[in-house]
Amino acid sequence: MKNYNEMSMDELQELDLKYIWHPCSQMKDYEELPPIVIKEGHGVYLKDVNGKEYIDVVSSWWCNLIGHTNEAVTSSIKNQLDKLEHVIFANFTHPPIVEVCDRLIKYLPKGLSKFNFSDNGSAAVECALKMAFQYHKQIGDSKRKRFMCLSDGYHGETIGALSVGSMDLYSKIYKPMLMDAIHVKAPDCFRCPFNKNREICNIECRCFVEEDFKKYGKETAAIIIEPVLQGAAGMRIYPPKYIKILRELCDEYGVLLIGDEIATGFGRTGKFFAMEHAEVTPDIMTISKGLTGGFMPMAATITTDKIYDAFYGDYNAHVAFMHSHTYSGNPLGASAAIGVLNFLEENNTLEKANEFAPKLNKMICDEFENEKNIGEIRQIGLINALEIVKDRKTKEPFDPKIRLEYQIYKKALEKGLLLRAIGDILYFNPPLTFTEEEARKSIKIMREAYDEVLKQIL
Ligand code: PMP
Repeated sequence: MKNYNEMSMDELQELDLKYIWHPCSQMKDYEELPPIVIKEGHGVYLKDVNGKEYIDVVSSWWCNLIGHTNEAVTSSIKNQLDKLEHVIFANFTHPPIVEVCDRLIKYLPKGLSKFNFSDNGSAAVECALKMAFQYHKQIGDSKRKRFMCLSDGYHGETIGALSVGSMDLYSKIYKPMLMDAIHVKAPDCFRCPFNKNREICNIECRCFVEEDFKKYGKETAAIIIEPVLQGAAGMRIYPPKYIKILRELCDEYGVLLIGDEIATGFGRTGKFFAMEHAEVTPDIMTISKGLTGGFMPMAATITTDKIYDAFYGDYNAHVAFMHSHTYSGNPLGASAAIGVLNFLEENNTLEKANEFAPKLNKMICDEFENEKNIGEIRQIGLINALEIVKDRKTKEPFDPKIRLEYQIYKKALEKGLLLRAIGDILYFNPPLTFTEEEARKSIKIMREAYDEVLKQIL
């Protein structure tokens, strides 16, 4: 028997490339940069099979909330492993999943009360869309068949989720397969069409969504948003007030508001859930990623009694939500979520992260704000994004064919930093446990990688 744990980087890479089609990748790029074989991870550090360390400032796709192999979570999963790994979730339940709901409820926007579990973010979004559609039908409003979403929004990769996503990079090729959603022009505070900035903004861009509600409000089942922070769009941050406006429009037109907190939940924006910034309760909310701290695949679609009640009735009334996923409510996932909650509560993690947030931002600003190719540094919670531009005055971006972000990504990797950028936007979205020392090291490497690549292309 081969011992794969004893194999060299080269051997494992060769076998990997023989079999594996990696996500969100042009596999030809792997000829030059084969997959780095990670053997272990502790805290913010990943270690490859050769012992080289990488600081994971992107939380491995934004899900590693409190550090790799955090003992609070590993012990909780281990404890569950010998009791029950999985059980069919129709007609059965178990203590960990009940505990997760009972403990999460106090952090949720007031009024959210019913949890439907799935195993990834896209699935939670599909569930939200179906729930919204069926809700309207069952309260006798069957003309509502469409969905609204914000331009440059991202909600996942399955067909429904892609339909309410607005990023051509992911969806363009599939357009013929997608639902005909209404893509509302989203706030864009860096390139504001009204030439305002965050300090002097009166949410002038509300006119776009107001117009779309006037036109399509009566045929729309729900609008889905990433509250306050459009992650995949490049960590675009917009004012909470915009969400208040959406809530009012939804109430006026009878449209449901879906808050997709898959990326923003669990303290990423400084509040436990980003909706709190606006003090708005969505009708449906989706969570994943931070829910299990990145340890197990788990997601939930959470809604109100009002929506739940529209699905409640005699079996033969055929109003049930006949939606299921095999791994719905998985006990190991639930035990990971319990580990995360234990850690957050016992360590005041969010409070500490919020104390560190302005310091981290200052460290990044001190290093980069006078750079002539940095158009904006935006920050919320521990998330900091630096938008690289060709011309600071006009905000003209570099030619995407240069693949600036990929060049910087590769340089940073060489130097031990996992800095997977989005377009020309470099960002930190580190675990909430990120320290000043780790920040200092990360910023130093980002600086070197940035300098070396920009020197080459300018
Ligand atoms: N919604 C948002 C806001 C996301 O950021 C993501 C993933 N980045 C998803 C949905 C999809 O989640 P998953 O990748 O688990 O399907």
